[in-house]
Amino acid sequence: MHTPDVRVPFLSLRPGEDADALRAAVNRVIDRGWFILGPELEAFEAEFAAASGAAHAIGVNTGTDAIALLLRGLGIGPGDEVITAPLSAAYTALAVMMAGARPVFADIDPERHTITPETVAAAITPRTAAIMPVHLYGQPADMPAIAALASRHGLALVEDAAQAHLATCGGAPVGSFGSGAAFSFYPTKNLGALGDAGAITTGDAALADRLRRLRNGGQKTTYQHDEFGVNSRLDEMQAAILRERLQRLPGWTAQRRAIAAHYRTRLAGGPVHVPAEFDAGHVYHLFVVRTTQRDAFRAHMLAQGVQTLVHYPKALTEQPAIQSEAPADCPEAVRAAAQVCSLPLYPSLSLHDADLVADAVMSFAPAL
Ligand SMILES: *Cc1c(COP(=O)(O)O)cnc(C)c1O
Repeated sequence: MHTPDVRVPFLSLRPGEDADALRAAVNRVIDRGWFILGPELEAFEAEFAAASGAAHAIGVNTGTDAIALLLRGLGIGPGDEVITAPLSAAYTALAVMMAGARPVFADIDPERHTITPETVAAAITPRTAAIMPVHLYGQPADMPAIAALASRHGLALVEDAAQAHLATCGGAPVGSFGSGAAFSFYPTKNLGALGDAGAITTGDAALADRLRRLRNGGQKTTYQHDEFGVNSRLDEMQAAILRERLQRLPGWTAQRRAIAAHYRTRLAGGPVHVPAEFDAGHVYHLFVVRTTQRDAFRAHMLAQGVQTLVHYPKALTEQPAIQSEAPADCPEAVRAAAQVCSLPLYPSLSLHDADLVADAVMSFAPAL
């Protein structure tokens, strides 16, 4: 079969405008000869906390670790249930399981693609310890309403903000609604490292202290292990890289929003459904459309030279490793998983290329 040339790739991870700054940052770390728990991490934590409107940030190895450690830091573990989203990266649920707790899935709103106060309320049991919304694709869940529900039931509230750096909900930063938030700096994320990295933000100084111990083997002081901790420290090389990129993140986020707005204008009335934007604080980690003819749509896009991806092809309730832990009926998540399709969207995407994408979408003729 003839494979058409790629005119618009889904994403390129090779550093662009920031490449020289990243090389300088790496050299700075090499020249200093200090690679773990050093000045770059300390500075990044302060800078990321400030950018996120949080009092504290704790750098860890991955977003998955950030979720698991945040839950453990709150004393959530075996016997506890954490209500979370069935449409997400599998790591959302796997991290709950890493903490020893059980993920319980509340169904999503089919437009917003996040869990809702109503679906969460229906999933609360006597074992529920926490609610953890996922700000999927960069769009925050309805946090004021979910926070009110959590406080009414005396439940902890944590946010999976792995796709939502700098996002706000009703004007307030994500991560500010409950005990804390987990962020990922996986290379594809809005703020991406050149490797694995993650962070937790919180306004609670005691929790921040506990998390700093938990990520470092549970050590209170060197060689004094008072509790069971893990080895999950964001290293100096990645911290230095993230500091460079954090400076550019507000500009990159504005570019993501501008491209999304352009797509919304161009795709109005077209052959695929464009889910609504519920909050101006959406940071467009992904631009996702829905169609019942996804395979045909993706083939059409590829024939026009446009790469697309699917986030995610299965609901977490359909994943064997998770299903057995948390059987749940989430028809909206299952339907979304069969219909969602992500279009190219990244800060360096030119408007010319965005128009190529939009032209390709608009020329799709669904079968009747
Ligand atoms: C990426 C992601 C994670 C996991 O983060 P890692 O850094 O890859 O461990 C968790 N939740 C969501 C919603 C994600 O997008």
